[in-house]
Amino acid sequence: MQNFDFDLFVIGGGSGGVRAARMAAQRGARVGLAEAAAMGGTCVNVGCIPKKLYSYAAHYADAFEESRGFGWVGEAPVLDWEMLKTNRAREITRLNGIYNQLLTGAGVKIITSWATLQDAHTVQMDQQIFTAKTILIATGGTPTVPAVTGREHVVTSDQMFDLKPFPKRLLVVGGGYIACEFASIFNGLGAHVTLVHRGEKVLTGFDDDVRSFIATEMGKTGVNLQLNSEIASIAKTAAGLQVDVKDRSGNITRVLADTVLYATGRVPNTNGLGLETAGVVLNDKGAVQVNGHYQTSLPSVYAIGDVTARLQLTPVALGEAMVVVDHLLGAVTGRKPRSMSYDFVPTAVFTHPNIGTVGYSEAQARQKFGKVSVFRSDFKALKHTLSGSPERTLMKLLVDDATDRVVGLHMVGPDAGEIVQGFAVAMKAGATKAVFDSTIGIHPTAAEEFVTMREPV
Ligand code: FAD
Ligand code: NDP
Repeated sequence: MQNFDFDLFVIGGGSGGVRAARMAAQRGARVGLAEAAAMGGTCVNVGCIPKKLYSYAAHYADAFEESRGFGWVGEAPVLDWEMLKTNRAREITRLNGIYNQLLTGAGVKIITSWATLQDAHTVQMDQQIFTAKTILIATGGTPTVPAVTGREHVVTSDQMFDLKPFPKRLLVVGGGYIACEFASIFNGLGAHVTLVHRGEKVLTGFDDDVRSFIATEMGKTGVNLQLNSEIASIAKTAAGLQVDVKDRSGNITRVLADTVLYATGRVPNTNGLGLETAGVVLNDKGAVQVNGHYQTSLPSVYAIGDVTARLQLTPVALGEAMVVVDHLLGAVTGRKPRSMSYDFVPTAVFTHPNIGTVGYSEAQARQKFGKVSVFRSDFKALKHTLSGSPERTLMKLLVDDATDRVVGLHMVGPDAGEIVQGFAVAMKAGATKAVFDSTIGIHPTAAEEFVTMREPV
């Protein structure tokens, strides 16, 4: 039998790669991991974590404003953008260190280098070549910007966390997770934000009521949404970036911006990895093609996370990592091997207000189940009876009439992600509307509305 340097070699130290390497090493495997940039990948360095920190920062603006209705008086503080950036950077550096420690503590050998695949069992780095029984590709994804006149003037989410100076006028292109979140966050931080989206509604794939509702709520907070529109050109002028926005009728509106953020999707990091040469097949999206065990066309090479372009979410990459480790090394004693299901994956969009969702949209549910009952509630939260904020909350349940199972649950409102996470457990367990109805609410909360909606619309 061939002797390998490692049992498992992981390329990419992001959400999926770190989890897989650490778990495999803890189970006694000899593990190596190559990371070309900062440990923790997209989520830790330029994704979930810094984004959520900035979202918290942005929420203070509302809190200061709303506190007046509760009797707080005095000048509202102003944002020190440089201090926010410094504090964020310090926290991210701390997290990078923790990830490094967790890996080395578990016995993983870290190589700080770009890695390429040479063949089914060999990886090459700057100075070294290693062999491994199994290789795991967890190289994530990168923002993509379409061809447009003036493309050289735009930034992507990767640059947004360290902008200098703070962009007083921000134009965001796209209508997905990143576009909506950054539009909300920078609006909260004090920028004048214009969001330009080619579609009729933002957040393709989400429930239609959610999509309309969030657009209205974002509009109320001051985000200027230009839907059914595209960018004709971007030019640098003395007054700022001059962006010509074209609507469906061909009318051009000129917008001046300090920063233009393109949030038009991400592509898998497969370039320069040597995949094709080694014989790893890519699918039509340019993502690594895997089977149900995350095995590529080369049986000793596996792939997980954003590089496979399925659901691009950190908890999904983590879940896939654990499935691969169980598959390779066997389950932890006394437990069943983990499996991964892409049904009822909950997700949140950290717009202001937040969106939380699990299960099917109304359109998807009707297509899949036929007869579906819809329960919907749209209300002003108790807090806003005094805060003066015009914000409203939306909650929606979709029930499959044949089985009474709740198959979709959607919320737009404060802490929607926190609230929906708990309901996702119930929905994974197959909770019916009767179970929801028999659950006692917690009063006074917004969340209790999910167990008190009685009449379908
Ligand atoms: P990554 O975390 O991207 O890690 C890949 C790593 O591989 C990188 O560190 C890269 O440097 C390294 N690498 C690439 N090629 C090589 C090579 N050849 N050699 C060595 N190293 C290499 N998800 C959520 O669930 N919640 C959120 O709130 C959320 N917010 C987000 C906000 C933004 C702005 C973005 C961009 C993404 C967000 N995501 C969020 C998505 C989430 O970050 C990703 O789904 C997740 O990071 C994917 O993990 P991964 O392990 O597949 O890849
Ligand atoms: P998304 O795929 O979510 O959205 C891309 C947006 O860009 C869509 O509105 C799309 O329009 C639009 N678009 C695509 N191509 C063009 C083009 N050529 N011209 C104009 N508009 C275009 O990608 P994001 O970049 O927002 O985020 C990538 C992924 O990262 C997300 O899908 C998500 O999985 C993950 N993420 C998760 C977060 C979370 O969990 N909170 C936060 C941030 C990211 P259309 O809808 O018409 O196709």
